[in-house]
Amino acid sequence: MLASSGEYFYTDQTSMKTNNFHHLYLRTNIPAGQFLRLRRLCGSRDEYRNQAAKMRDKFLARGYPGKTIKQAYKRGLYADRTSLLQTRQRSEVDRLVCVLPYTQRTQKIQEIILQHWHVLTFHESLQNRPLFARTRGRNLRDILVHSDSYQTDTEPTPGQYRCQGCSVCKHVLETKSFQHPTMPYKQVLSRHFDCSTDRVIYAILCPCQKLYIGQTKLSICTRIIQHRSCIHTGKIESPLVKHWQDCGHTEDQLKFCILQQRPNRRGGHISQDLRQTEQRFIYYWQTMAPKGLNATIEWEAFL
Ligand SMILES: [Zn+2]
Ligand SMILES: [Zn+2]
Repeated sequence: MLASSGEYFYTDQTSMKTNNFHHLYLRTNIPAGQFLRLRRLCGSRDEYRNQAAKMRDKFLARGYPGKTIKQAYKRGLYADRTSLLQTRQRSEVDRLVCVLPYTQRTQKIQEIILQHWHVLTFHESLQNRPLFARTRGRNLRDILVHSDSYQTDTEPTPGQYRCQGCSVCKHVLETKSFQHPTMPYKQVLSRHFDCSTDRVIYAILCPCQKLYIGQTKLSICTRIIQHRSCIHTGKIESPLVKHWQDCGHTEDQLKFCILQQRPNRRGGHISQDLRQTEQRFIYYWQTMAPKGLNATIEWEAFL
């Protein structure tokens, strides 16, 4: 804005330093936008030159490269002020906006999407290439600071115990740690678990020492009842159900142990977190059929 005294006020963006983690286009577009803005505000080219010198110093002081500032300055100098003052009509092209978090890999992901975009053009709404927008990536604050903490209130002895009163109690392996039956992996239970514990990764052990790894957001009790029902009805085709049928195991022979409870932090993606942890266990503990009772590894959990 032009004040009566002839002073020009720049937007806050002028004060953004260049040594931050912002997109290159954003960093070069800030001087360009600011010099064009200045050209709009200045009635004559001489006035623009005067003010632009001050603006250039300000940008230089903030660490912007001289080349970028020079280009932006020239753009402003030779721009036609009349057309700059006209309101621009935005194009009405309907383009999909692809929003990606801004990280060091964003550019690569964008290139991959564009490279394979032709695969999607069979759909009429995807004829135009997408517009890319970026959201702020995770910063140190997001990684380090959690306003809500783990519930560590006077917790009883760690381990898995029966709740002494539900239909699932008979399936509980009462233990303080769970040993992989065939591999040298042992999971020490870090908290107190019983039938009502939720947000867990669990292992089901069959009488012939085969393992199934699962996860649930609900209570383990509810999930085990679901497994028992699947085994009973045999309706769902899964390695677990098939193995139980083929080997003639009974429902009562199912034993389980909670391996981990995941924190329910505010703003966290608990479902994705559970799935990812589950898939890691399946991979490292090698519980895919035929060795174990899991169907496959769901790699898409990590996308
Ligand atoms: Zn119970
Ligand atoms: Zn078995």
